[in-house]
Amino acid sequence: MNESMQVYLSAWPTVWAMDTGRYLVGATLMAAILALFWRAGLARRKLQARDPATGQRRREFLASLRTAFIFSLLGTIVAVGDHQGWITIYKGFGQAGPAYLVGSLALMLVAHDTYFYWVHRAMHHRRLFALFHRTHHLSRTPTPWAAYSFAVPEAIVHAAFVPLFLLVVPMHGLGLLAFGIVQILRNVMGHAGAEVHSAAFGPGRWLGWNNTTTHHDLHHETSRYNYGLYFRWWDKLMGTEHPDYRRKFEAIIAPEARTTQPAIAGRVLVRTIAALMLAGGLVVAAEPTRAEGSPVGRWATPGVAAIVELAPCADTSGLCGTIRWLWDAVDEKGRPRLDAQNADTALRTRPLLGLSILSGLTRSPNGSWEGRIYNPEDGQTYRATVRQTAADTLTVEGCVLFICQKQAWRSASALAAVLR
Ligand SMILES: [Zn+2]
Ligand SMILES: [Zn+2]
Repeated sequence: MNESMQVYLSAWPTVWAMDTGRYLVGATLMAAILALFWRAGLARRKLQARDPATGQRRREFLASLRTAFIFSLLGTIVAVGDHQGWITIYKGFGQAGPAYLVGSLALMLVAHDTYFYWVHRAMHHRRLFALFHRTHHLSRTPTPWAAYSFAVPEAIVHAAFVPLFLLVVPMHGLGLLAFGIVQILRNVMGHAGAEVHSAAFGPGRWLGWNNTTTHHDLHHETSRYNYGLYFRWWDKLMGTEHPDYRRKFEAIIAPEARTTQPAIAGRVLVRTIAALMLAGGLVVAAEPTRAEGSPVGRWATPGVAAIVELAPCADTSGLCGTIRWLWDAVDEKGRPRLDAQNADTALRTRPLLGLSILSGLTRSPNGSWEGRIYNPEDGQTYRATVRQTAADTLTVEGCVLFICQKQAWRSASALAAVLR
């Protein structure tokens, strides 16, 4: 038996015990917190109305133990690599001080978040989903036990990160240990099923870049959006964050969430209406976009926040764009959303649905369409340039003076085809 094999075999039991142990400790800790504080407040922070399926925890638990086993098989390669000098793991502070430990740990978390986001998105591709990622999504309402419930191929993909990272960046042993702890804690928090973060960690505040339970739970609930692990950066950058994330987090941690029966009934009603709207939107989206080269047809704004129909204007020449569908068509009280930000107070009571936001678009010699766009979010009207950059993509640019904002709108029918 060669030396590497001997190192591998002698290190493996310890690595396996650590991988399995941190899962058992992390998931048990989270399950205990949920049980102990359920009545004291966590019940009000439950994220989905449905409960975990029977036998789900057992399935998640067994799959997670299998993942810990696979993690240990690949993780032990790190011990061999350290022994052979392929990678560097510092034992003391002689070569690199505490500042390096902290800096490299931060870098490792950012790198892991990036790695996770992209492999996760890839695994959602319809060609890869069944083999790699379906097992994890069997948990529609995840529990802390789902932290490692991956199919074998997905477990291998995740296990590969640490050895790959170490090939590039030397780490302290303590840094690696801290990474392992942070990773499992964030993981069980994301799958808790009830929001366990305080308001300070919510979107838009000082720690808004942090992912919350609501964030990952929405991923399980919808099987799309929110692919990130620790941070929101990639989802925001790539436009894959759930459009309702902020609203849902704020609603769940707000004191008003401590609600009476009628208020809960109201919320159920709002959700039902939203679901019907979504169904309606998909039907609307299924209508084919017309003639290539002319942007006439239905277009989805980023994050499918709205579907805008471009058609010849009713009273003037050129093209006009009308809001035909809204993700957020009703407010918290179930009332239709209004043009509440309009500078003209008389116009603030008109509903957003059916509102014309693009007007007088005329074709310019370079093939783009020039006109005006109204942004209901700030109540301002901008100079607009609309250009069809691909059969399924419309680039919409709105400018005020020389400050411009560009968005890509997707053809609703192309989107519907993806969803099917
Ligand atoms: Zn998950
Ligand atoms: Zn997923």
